[in-house]
Amino acid sequence: MSDSCCGTTAIEIKQFTTPQQTTPGQTGALPVVVIGAGPVGLAAAAHLAERGIDFLVVEASDRIAASVAQWGHVRVFSPWKYNIDAAARRQLEADGWTAPDGEWLPTGAELIDDYLAPLAKLFRDKVRLGAKVTAISRLGYDRVRTAGRDEVPFLVRLDDGSELQARAIIDASGTYTSPNVLGASGLQAHGEGAVFVDHALPDVLGADRDRYEGKHTLVVGAGHSAATTLLALAELPDTPITWAIRGGSAARTYGGGDADALPARGALGTRLRAHVESGRITLLTGFFTHRVNATAEGVEVVSRDPSGHGQSVTADRIISATGYRPDHSIASELRLDLDPVLGSTRQMAPLIDPNQHSCGTVPPHGVDELAHPEPGYYAVGVKSYGRAPTFLMATGYEQVRSVVAALAGDWQAARDVQLDLPETGVCSSNLAEAQEQRVGLATGVSGGLLSAPLPLATVGATASAESGGGCCG
Ligand SMILES: Cc1cc2nc3c(=O)[nH]c(=O)nc-3n(C[C@H](O)[C@H](O)[C@H](O)COP(=O)(O)OP(=O)(O)OC[C@H]3O[C@@H](n4cnc5c(N)ncnc54)[C@H](O)[C@@H]3O)c2cc1C
Repeated sequence: MSDSCCGTTAIEIKQFTTPQQTTPGQTGALPVVVIGAGPVGLAAAAHLAERGIDFLVVEASDRIAASVAQWGHVRVFSPWKYNIDAAARRQLEADGWTAPDGEWLPTGAELIDDYLAPLAKLFRDKVRLGAKVTAISRLGYDRVRTAGRDEVPFLVRLDDGSELQARAIIDASGTYTSPNVLGASGLQAHGEGAVFVDHALPDVLGADRDRYEGKHTLVVGAGHSAATTLLALAELPDTPITWAIRGGSAARTYGGGDADALPARGALGTRLRAHVESGRITLLTGFFTHRVNATAEGVEVVSRDPSGHGQSVTADRIISATGYRPDHSIASELRLDLDPVLGSTRQMAPLIDPNQHSCGTVPPHGVDELAHPEPGYYAVGVKSYGRAPTFLMATGYEQVRSVVAALAGDWQAARDVQLDLPETGVCSSNLAEAQEQRVGLATGVSGGLLSAPLPLATVGATASAESGGGCCG
C-alpha cells in the first residue's frame, strides 16, 4: 500500500484464478455430484456411467454404504432380485461379477459385500470417501438472486472447507443419520440431549451384546425395528426388557399372526406377543415420552399423555426405534418446494402420503415428481420420501434411472417410468401403522426370520392411490 498525491490510500487488488472456475453457460463440462454412496447413490453412478456423463460420488463416511453397514446384521425382506439396479447389474456382469441368488434375502452386510462394494470398485476414484457435504448453493448466487441462476454451476462445500462445482446434484444422502426423537410430540423430550440414547437396530446378539446383556433395556417405538430389537434382546439371559409404545395396544406390531399376508411378519409378531404374554417383555402402552432424567439407578423415562396422565420407568439402556426424518439443511440455500407434512417434494407427497392411502399404491415416478424449483437438484432414494415410511430400493433405482435420463436430455426415457414393487403386505392406510412401516422394513436379525419370497405387483403409470396392490398392499 502507498499514499497517493491526493492524500487517499491506494489499495492493491490482487487478481487470480482458481482451478475449476467456470463462466456462466459452461456448466455442462462439470461433473454431476452424487451425495452419498448408499444403494441409490451408487445406482445413480451406474446410470451416469452408462450414459457417459461425468460424475463424482461424495460419501461422508470412510466406507461406502455407511448407513446400510449400521444395520448390517439385519436380514432385509426383499430378495436380491429387487435389490440390484439394472444399470449396475449390466456393468457388474460385464466385469465378470455373478449376481447372487435372486430369491435370497441378504443381510445388510451381504448387500454391501456381494453387490455394493464390487459396484463402487468399478467407479474407482469417482467415489470419494470421507467427503461430507455441509452445504450446497449456486456459484455466486444466494437463494434470492434469480437472473442467470440456471446458467451457473452448483457449489458443493465439504466439511474440510473445500468446494466442488457441479452441473447437477443428485442428493442420495438418506435419512438414517437423522433419526426421530424420543419425545412423543416430535420435539426432543426434556433432557433427551443430556442422556445416552441408542438408535434403532443395535447388533444386540453380536457386536453390541455386552452393552445389553444383564442390563434393563427400554425400547421405545412400535415398528418392526423395535420388534426385531425386542426379539433379539429376549435371547439374552438375565436381561429385563421394557417396551414402550404410544398407542393403546400393540396389535399393529403383532400383525396378523398366521393370517398375515407376509409370513415372516406374522412370525415376528407372534413371537413378540408370546414374550409379552409370558412376561418376558413388559409392555407399556399409552406411553408419551416427555422427559428423561439421569439418576443413580439409571435413566428415568417419564411419559405424560395428552390428558396429563403420567407414568415412568427407569432403565439402564434406552433404545429409540421411532423412525427417521429428512435433513434438508445442506440444501437450505437452494430453492426447494417441500411438502409441509412429509418433507418430500409437493409433487411426490400425494403419491406416498400415508394419511391418504396404502404405500402399496405408490405409482411409478421420476424426474418430474422429484424436481424442485431449483433446476438440476434432485433428492432421491429414501430421502425423497421425507417422513413417509415405505421406501424401497427398487423405487430409488427407478428414480435415478429417470433423473439421469433427463440429465442426458433423453426425456422420453426419463418420463417412461415403470415400477414393479414387492407386495409385502406390511402397509395399511392407517397413519400410525404406516408411519411404523419405515422401520418395519427391518424384518429380521441375521439368523433369519424370513423365508417366503415376495410376489410382485406391477403398478401402472395410471395407478390411483386407492387401487391397492404394490409393495405393501
Ligand atoms: C433396517 C432396514 C432394513 C431395510 N430393508 C429394506 C428392504 O428389505 N428392501 C428395500 O427395498 N429397502 C429396505 N430398506 C429401506 C431402504 O432401501 C434403505 O434404507 C436404503 O439403504 C436406502 O438407500 P439410500 O441410498 O437412499 O440411502 P442410504 O442407504 O441411507 O445411504 C445414504 C448415504 O449417504 C451418506 N451421507 C449422508 N449424509 C451425507 C453428506 N452430508 N455428505 C455425503 N454423504 C452423506 C451416508 O453415509 C450413506 O452412505 C431398509 C431400511 C432399513 C433401515
